[in-house]
Amino acid sequence: MSSRITRLAPSPTGALHLGNLRTFLINWALARCDGWRIEMRIEDLDGPRIRPGAAQGVLDTLHWVGIDWDGPVRIQSADLDPYVAAMRDLAQMQLVYPCELSRSEIEAAASAPHGSEGEVCFPPSLRPKDRPERFDDVQTNWRFAVDGRTIVFDDGFAGRVERCPAEQCGDFVVWTRRGQPAYQLAVVVDDARQGVTDVVRGDDLLDSAARQIMLLEALNLRPRPRYTHLPLVVGPDGRRLAKRHGDTRIEYYRSRGATPERLIGLMAFWSGVQPRREPMSLNEFRDGFGLSTLPRGKMTFTQEDDQWLCEA
Ligand code: GLU
Repeated sequence: MSSRITRLAPSPTGALHLGNLRTFLINWALARCDGWRIEMRIEDLDGPRIRPGAAQGVLDTLHWVGIDWDGPVRIQSADLDPYVAAMRDLAQMQLVYPCELSRSEIEAAASAPHGSEGEVCFPPSLRPKDRPERFDDVQTNWRFAVDGRTIVFDDGFAGRVERCPAEQCGDFVVWTRRGQPAYQLAVVVDDARQGVTDVVRGDDLLDSAARQIMLLEALNLRPRPRYTHLPLVVGPDGRRLAKRHGDTRIEYYRSRGATPERLIGLMAFWSGVQPRREPMSLNEFRDGFGLSTLPRGKMTFTQEDDQWLCEA
């Protein structure tokens, strides 16, 4: 039995679409091929973007496809104490500070251009010299004081990755004024307490990985996971799969009569497991999948894909 542990970490911001399914399916196949434990974690701390009922919908859809996990589902919002404890530790080291500046105030002070996601780089000039040693105000934003290091790691798919958070985002938010941890902190705390050794997810989170490594080093958390970032599925316009590309939800195709085998067959075609679109079982996908034959570039969802799924 392997001692490796991975997690599926959906954000219930909407229904599962073809792009999410591909990532989860590959994560599941890597785990089940090698005997890793799979944790299921609902990342529902993204306040306004969370949609009621979406978490159950995602779990039901995964279940229908046949993707399973081990042990109970962990829901982030159910217990905030571990994140508060991490904030206390960071405050004690004076690595975090409250910050009420608005986006426009930060923009006005930032000289660097915006990053690729429209992210403003928080300038060091705005970081207070005196930082509190106590985390005592949960109703305000808190930022992490990043140092100037370039973080280097070996990604299981992307290869050698180098990122400098100080240049990309500057001091990033780790606690939000909604009284909840921000994504970066929540992920790091949960990966550590769930013993996650292997993180497999979309490569839109490559920049985040460097921030997460900084946080886990600051908190001295173990284990340091091995990251595998997979290329995203995009629409014919080259942009990340989203509503503008029509209805790509799994439930939509299910309602049109598509079977799990047909959806998995498309994922297999997209992932280098088979040369053409043919229905495939989950176990065949698991046995046939390998990172070495996964196409390196973004995968484009085409009209032929859509038609084939609806041919059922
Ligand atoms: N909850 C995130 C998402 O659905 C994934 C975060 C992660 O895997 O670290 O995009």
